[in-house]
Amino acid sequence: MLIVQKYGGTSVGDLERIENVAKRVARTKDAGNDVIVVVSAMSGETNKLIEYAHHFSKNPSPREMDLLLSAGERVTSALLAIALKEMGYDAIALTGRQAGIYTDDVHTKARIDEIDTTTMQNHLKEGKIVVVAGFQGITREGEVSTLGRGGSDLSAVAIAGAMGADLCEIYTDVDGVYTTDPRIERRAQKIDKISYDEMLEFASMGAKVLQNRSVELAKKLNVNLVTRSSFNDNEGTLITKEENIMEQPIVSGVALDKNQARITLRNIKDEPGIAAKIFSTLADENINVDMIIQNVGQDGTANIGFTVPENELEHAKNVMEKLEASENIEFDSNIAKVSIVGVGMKSHSGVAGIAFSALAKENINIEMISTSEIKISMIVAEKYGELAVRILHEAYGLDNRS
Ligand code: ADP
Ligand code: ASP
Ligand code: MG
Repeated sequence: MLIVQKYGGTSVGDLERIENVAKRVARTKDAGNDVIVVVSAMSGETNKLIEYAHHFSKNPSPREMDLLLSAGERVTSALLAIALKEMGYDAIALTGRQAGIYTDDVHTKARIDEIDTTTMQNHLKEGKIVVVAGFQGITREGEVSTLGRGGSDLSAVAIAGAMGADLCEIYTDVDGVYTTDPRIERRAQKIDKISYDEMLEFASMGAKVLQNRSVELAKKLNVNLVTRSSFNDNEGTLITKEENIMEQPIVSGVALDKNQARITLRNIKDEPGIAAKIFSTLADENINVDMIIQNVGQDGTANIGFTVPENELEHAKNVMEKLEASENIEFDSNIAKVSIVGVGMKSHSGVAGIAFSALAKENINIEMISTSEIKISMIVAEKYGELAVRILHEAYGLDNRS
């Protein structure tokens, strides 16, 4: 078998843990498999590098940020290969460029266009364990790019897809996908199997156990994806096609995303084309807008509120100020998005009402709502985010009662 294993930041968080990863990789190789390992930077490293950059600039240039941030993964990939060699295994560490990962040129959140697998194939043929620095690639112009936060998951899935791997294992610090973040609700339960679509919504809504784009790609390329812990041998969670899952609860899980910010434009002219102008400008700037609310007043003006990722707020602020769509712009990053996800919602009514009543009972005000076929998201004040998660987890009967 060809197995791609990805080890996240905590799993390679110090030298002892890298040694532990080397042992796991060695075991997989000894069992007769070909192995490609994708590693993250040591936990906290990427944040530290971002802080360093912000010491000098509020808006550091994305090109230089990519050069800076890609360094963290280079360190761990080289260290892991060194550790493996010392254990008597033939291993080789590759940067994103050396591994043939080509991306578009949207720095700090590049998309993978193509993977030239020649180098990886050749090393595998020679019996080597290939260790790839995650989260990074190269543009056609030869510039270093990174794939967005949590992007090593995407590197792993993309490599698994391009190489036709039999399995892609995402090793992290929890032993699978839970009904909600086990750090927020200790009664959360592990999910044995979850569909790509549900996992995609879950990840997009803040369940950072998998990066959302990695799930999207896994679905597209039909990659066998498993998340599990690098600290024990528990069975993990399989992310698979919906038809492979027998029983579907109505609501599968609750997610929290605190990294959201809201921009409100007040008293803008209520006339055709205004929204188009605002949102096409944001799209041109590659800013991801999530929820949008428009209230129409009586005097020919309207208020438009929308959310963007917190780390894009500065950029969005600049864009909105330049656009001069409104003289009255408010920014608020003290919000959180709480979402419930479940494919069962497609065929059941009354699911949303349960959430609204449960939150109302605890006096938590819902500031914005958006829905899709399989999710309901609500914006609440950030300070209530975790409480809202616990309330909803219980309201939908997800608490582990054992
Ligand atoms: P890594 O560094 O290995 O990529 P991450 O920190 O990105 O790990 O993701 C793992 C974390 O995701 C867990 O420690 C957990 O707190 C968090 N998490 C959030 N939602 C969930 C969930 N529904 N199930 C499991 N873990 C979750
Ligand atoms: N090191 C990167 C991050 O912290 C990528 C990853 O860990 O997946 O976002
Ligand atoms: Mg991660």
